[in-house]
Amino acid sequence: GADFAGTAAIVTGGASGIGLATAVLLASRGAQVACLDLSDEVPEPLLGLKCDVRDDAAVRAAVALAVQRFGRLDVVVANAGIGAQGTVEDNSDDEWHRVFDVNVLGVARTVRAALPALRDSDRAAVVVTSSIAAVAGIPQRALYSASKGALAALTLAMAADAVADGVRVNAVAPGTADTPWVGRLLDSAADPAAERAALAARQPMGRLVSAEEVAHAICYLASPLSGSTTGTLLNVDGGMFGL
Ligand code: NAD
Repeated sequence: GADFAGTAAIVTGGASGIGLATAVLLASRGAQVACLDLSDEVPEPLLGLKCDVRDDAAVRAAVALAVQRFGRLDVVVANAGIGAQGTVEDNSDDEWHRVFDVNVLGVARTVRAALPALRDSDRAAVVVTSSIAAVAGIPQRALYSASKGALAALTLAMAADAVADGVRVNAVAPGTADTPWVGRLLDSAADPAAERAALAARQPMGRLVSAEEVAHAICYLASPLSGSTTGTLLNVDGGMFGL
């Protein structure tokens, strides 16, 4: 596996699901890791920093604290996000603003705050959590898909702007992954078992993606093993998009 000894990372949304799995994996490979999340409850040795990515000053303060604590910053995993259901007819303007504020502006604020420190790293990498919904038409996900599609485009644009500084920017596009988020979605369904089976059946592999599988993809994009890769969207989707 990739070696993160001597490096420092921040992971937004790092207290649950894909973010937590990524933070744990980075730490197990030697990185110092700060999790920026609404919750600061994370297992040792992760550093939990309470931070709402809707609050620019809070993001700046948390990034500065992590840089001060670790003395450097090499990896940013901009992963915090929220879901939204419905067709384009279902969501109000307020819902559009609320979801874009977290999913899109939250990523922009995080990267904006981190770039000055990243430029000082000789192995700087940003990994954004987009979604297969960015590139595949999924029913009842209009607003969510638009926010994740914006992240796919933002990833490319940021990669272009940062390439001369030696900062790589890539994104992962998970299919439906088995995280607390999807657990909550299933719990709210009339028949959770049937709903889980339906979600699994939508992916050609016939199962949900695991948070750890997404974490391994993120760690690959965060490590020098992917040193020639920037501006890509890596699908981790059980074959949903390509097959
Ligand atoms: P999760 O709910 O388990 O974890 C998300 C974390 O983000 C939580 O700890 C939450 O507190 C945090 N968060 C939410 N709003 C925040 C805010 N304003 N500021 C700071 N932190 C905030 O969800 P997950 O399934 O691990 O999702 C992580 C990312 O993966 C999201 O961006 C999601 O869109 C994306 N994704 C998930 C799936 C899936 O099927 N689970 C599929 C594709 C993409």
